[in-house]
Amino acid sequence: LETKLPKVGTTIFTVMSQLALEHKAVNLGQGFPDFAVPQRLVDALSRAMAEGRNQYAPMHGVPALRQAIAAKTARCYGREVDPDAEITVTSGASEAIFDAVLAVVRPGEEVVVLDPCYDCYEPAIDLAGGVAVHVPLDPQDFTVDWQRVREAISPRTRMLMINSPHNPSGAMLTEGDMRELASLLRDTSIVLLSDEVYEHIVFDGARHESVLRHPELAERAFVVSSFGKTYHCTGWKVGYAVAPPALTAEFRKVHQYNTFCTFAPAQFAFAEMIEHEPSHHEQLGEFYESKRDRFREQLQGTKLRPLPVPGGYFQLVDYSAVSDLSDAEFCRWLTVEKGVAAIPLSPFYARPPEGQRLARLCFAKEAATLDAAIERLKAL
Ligand code: PMP
Ligand code: GLN
Repeated sequence: LETKLPKVGTTIFTVMSQLALEHKAVNLGQGFPDFAVPQRLVDALSRAMAEGRNQYAPMHGVPALRQAIAAKTARCYGREVDPDAEITVTSGASEAIFDAVLAVVRPGEEVVVLDPCYDCYEPAIDLAGGVAVHVPLDPQDFTVDWQRVREAISPRTRMLMINSPHNPSGAMLTEGDMRELASLLRDTSIVLLSDEVYEHIVFDGARHESVLRHPELAERAFVVSSFGKTYHCTGWKVGYAVAPPALTAEFRKVHQYNTFCTFAPAQFAFAEMIEHEPSHHEQLGEFYESKRDRFREQLQGTKLRPLPVPGGYFQLVDYSAVSDLSDAEFCRWLTVEKGVAAIPLSPFYARPPEGQRLARLCFAKEAATLDAAIERLKAL
């Protein structure tokens, strides 16, 4: 068989979770919370199913949920969006990313991605017949060198993808970045795809620079988010894309034939949750900030050097004081021999920086889980 995705194997998240299970390692690899989903949401989901909301949802999403997303978008980012023409509910942010790329990128067109980047971006581009053009972020602090991005743009560039707060580093784009981005895209027809799944997990009083705050950018963008991160339910796979009507129309052409619609009962549950607890997400930053701070303090008792974490729920650690193994080998060794699963950074790069010794640990965990991991990490 001549494969369509020759570079693709099994995702690192699956590989490391399986390895963690086999070796009974504390799993700080794949990013998912190990604590409970809000009770109201669980109740609302059961009720939706019991009340018979079990058939196809409208293709673009249950109206009450799209209205709730529109109200939240106005409240959080000051942008009024039309829930009928500009919001589509999807089966996770992953589906939204695939739909957006497949809807706009034609064979031979280029998509600029900033490395390290989330692992599903490039396969989506490849399947569309596009070409991923990789621009590295600063290896120290994961900031964007806009001059390099400018140089990567060509007449064939169709799309630029950004992600803030960033997976795996937690770096966040600033207002200055948004200005640079606007000036870069002005007078081009480049579509922006902004992956904002960690939009509410931001620390130290920082403000999330959603593309939805910036009208000039929002007018050419798909903004993608995921309820999985905001409501601790990554397994429910419900997300959405906000985009201007013309882009949304193209997006829905793919969505309607890809999944057609997203799990209906969960859509009713999220609509109820957002309506009754509109400020749920406001405590998320604080909630994760205390986990981050505690975990970082505990890491001081190990040989791992924690990098700053401005947002998201991942802690990067430099392990060069422990080992000179490559990141993939180190994470495997850490899981198998030391009982803590972590994610190497190299799968997030087209060309990993030479000699980089970083691993990603997820701190979206109960204190007891993190304590158990720290006990094992102290022994390194
Ligand atoms: N983008 C980023 C940066 C992510 O970290 C994730 C999931 N962890 C996704 C997209 C996919 O989100 P979902 O699970 O809602 O498909
Ligand atoms: N996004 C999650 C992470 O970065 C993993 C999601 C998945 O396993 N596909 O860990």
